[in-house]
Amino acid sequence: MLQLFIPLGFLGIVYRQIKYALADMDLVFKLLEREPEIEDEPDAPALKLSRGAVRFEHVDFHYTPDRAILRDVDFRVEPGEKVAVVGHSGAGKSTLARLLFRSYDVSGGRILIDDQDIRAVTQESLRAGIGIVPQDTVLFNDSIRYNLAYGRPEARFEELEQAADLAHIRKFIEGLPEGWDTIVGERGLKLSGGEKQRVAIARAILKRPRMMVFDEATSSLDSQTEQAIQQTLAEVAEHHTTLAIAHRLSTIVDADRILVMDAGRIVEHGSHSKLLADAGVYAAMWELQQREREEAGVERP
Ligand code: ADP
Ligand code: MG
Repeated sequence: MLQLFIPLGFLGIVYRQIKYALADMDLVFKLLEREPEIEDEPDAPALKLSRGAVRFEHVDFHYTPDRAILRDVDFRVEPGEKVAVVGHSGAGKSTLARLLFRSYDVSGGRILIDDQDIRAVTQESLRAGIGIVPQDTVLFNDSIRYNLAYGRPEARFEELEQAADLAHIRKFIEGLPEGWDTIVGERGLKLSGGEKQRVAIARAILKRPRMMVFDEATSSLDSQTEQAIQQTLAEVAEHHTTLAIAHRLSTIVDADRILVMDAGRIVEHGSHSKLLADAGVYAAMWELQQREREEAGVERP
């Protein structure tokens, strides 16, 4: 009975909000999706980015106090290094990316960029320094041009075209009914998961920030497009500090270091060859994926 009452009461509130807000659906969605508000410290300085060294220092995290998500996660990404994070679904990989971007604050420990605690600097300066290709890209109800330039609105049009080329999305854009001016997003043209991912990749290429975070950045692409874009991403990531969260292990064999997560902890770490030799969680995941690839008729790399 109780279970039935709470949602109904909540609907009542939402109904009243709809009435009072003159059916402003945007407001209703904001009320429903509201995330804990992260505030800058008063007089917080901007992040002083030098080489882009990232350090997770004994990080604990929970979304709700009853359920720990990350436990004592401790690692560094040195300037220019590429570190990959792998692990089964639900292990906490995307949560790492969200914490680095400070969508949430850590529950314990610290995250440092170039020796500055990310909670002590402005969110704007933090986010300006990080290019993120998330697992699920949200597009604005605006033109595809606006969506792609988001993060560097002052970019020249030729730069937009070049980034779109590299992300294999330019032909698609130019074939749209109104080309670069086509409105996309929830109330415009709906893009597929793979198309949205390529928009996000183009955004990150255009922004060229010091640090890159790829969260299963090519998971919605077919394997041919994925291979082509992986090559681009490898070039973009060169000289950048990169955290690459991967589902398909074949995309991260070249990482400087691989962290293997399980149930919110780092359970193994090292290079691809070391992890294979260790014959642990990573080696088992690798074997499984190789078998799946062989069944799908793909040669071993
Ligand atoms: P991964 O990316 O490795 O699949 P996530 O970091 O997305 O894992 O999620 C780790 C755990 O945190 C999962 O059990 C997931 O259900 C939970 N989780 C993710 N986002 C939220 C959220 N906003 N509120 C509560 N729990 C969440
Ligand atoms: Mg994830």
